Amino acid sequence: MPARKILVIDDEPDVHGMLRALFRERPLEIHSAMNGADGIREAVRLQPDTILLDLKMPGGMNGIEVAERLKEDTRTQGIPVILLTSCRSTEDKIAAFRAGADDYVTKPFDTGEIDVRITSWIKRRDLIEGKNREIHNLKGDKLELERLAAMDEMTGLWNFREFRRRLRDEWLRSERYGAPLSLVMFDLDNFKRFNDTFGHPAGDDALREFATRLVGGGRETDIVARYGGEEFAIILPHTDILMATRVAERIRAALGEFTFLIGDRPARMTVSAGVATYPTSGAVDSVDSLVEHADRALYRAKELGKNRVESAMDGGGDGIDRDHGRRYGSRTSSTITGKRPRD
Ligand code: GH3
Ligand code: MG
Ligand code: MG
Repeated sequence: MPARKILVIDDEPDVHGMLRALFRERPLEIHSAMNGADGIREAVRLQPDTILLDLKMPGGMNGIEVAERLKEDTRTQGIPVILLTSCRSTEDKIAAFRAGADDYVTKPFDTGEIDVRITSWIKRRDLIEGKNREIHNLKGDKLELERLAAMDEMTGLWNFREFRRRLRDEWLRSERYGAPLSLVMFDLDNFKRFNDTFGHPAGDDALREFATRLVGGGRETDIVARYGGEEFAIILPHTDILMATRVAERIRAALGEFTFLIGDRPARMTVSAGVATYPTSGAVDSVDSLVEHADRALYRAKELGKNRVESAMDGGGDGIDRDHGRRYGSRTSSTITGKRPRD
């Protein structure tokens, strides 16, 4: 452990000499300041472990003022201040504590007493700093755990649980501000066959490759998640259905044009996507129905031959109430699970 620093602020040279002699054999550095202003400057610079501060100093600041300044300054307020006083009056002691002093010793001091007090304050400060460090580390650990718990290990995308949480948050925001919220669901085509042909590890690589494309395909604010297996989702806040469909289409097209090399074997992969938007996609009136509509559009894309994007606005037979789509802006409020009143 490095030598502990004690800063002595006192106008009497004898006090400095005496303290130096007292602590000569100990791993303590004694630093001296002969007046308040120098003392404060030294306290900031040195960051001592304890300050011994004379109460009565002629001219300039007295000990009370110095203590006040030290305790107001965030750079020095954590340092224990022991006031050195020759007066035993209760008022002086009260004033000292009011100013923020942590302890006091009366002059002429007993060397044993001052030794014990300094040691005890250094120990207390170590304990507090140790605790602060622990708290800081725990907070860091907690954040890291939360991040890990929200992440899909294989792809580094958000996992299903986090997807649900984020979607609910964005839904509420969208309701409050009347901004559109889009959801795109992706499902890789014939992925079972991909695995059967190239092997499961190659399938894993393909999933990671697609994940990278998804992240690269949208905006910073988009929330990209692995929904499960070979299914993925992007939440696009502030995005209408046309824009969301364009994003999905761009990702689909880019993947379709890409050839992987697995060993020396070329492999192609395609993806289908379904898009839904609140509040323009028909009867979307809850988080669940937004997911349901995107899912149904995805199912339609599969039925219509795969490697395509369908949105919950076009095509027929999706059971979507198109009249509701025109009511954007005149919505009444609803909760996550609550249904919008129908008329
Ligand atoms: P479709 O075009 O209709 O979506 O056909 P599909 O074969 O992609 O769909 P299906 O649901 O029949 O099969 C999904 C496949 O995805 C089966 C499963 O082994 C594979 N899969 C799911 N998760 C993973 C994974 O983590 N790694 C690998 N390599 N394959 C996975
Ligand atoms: Mg699937
Ligand atoms: Mg699939």
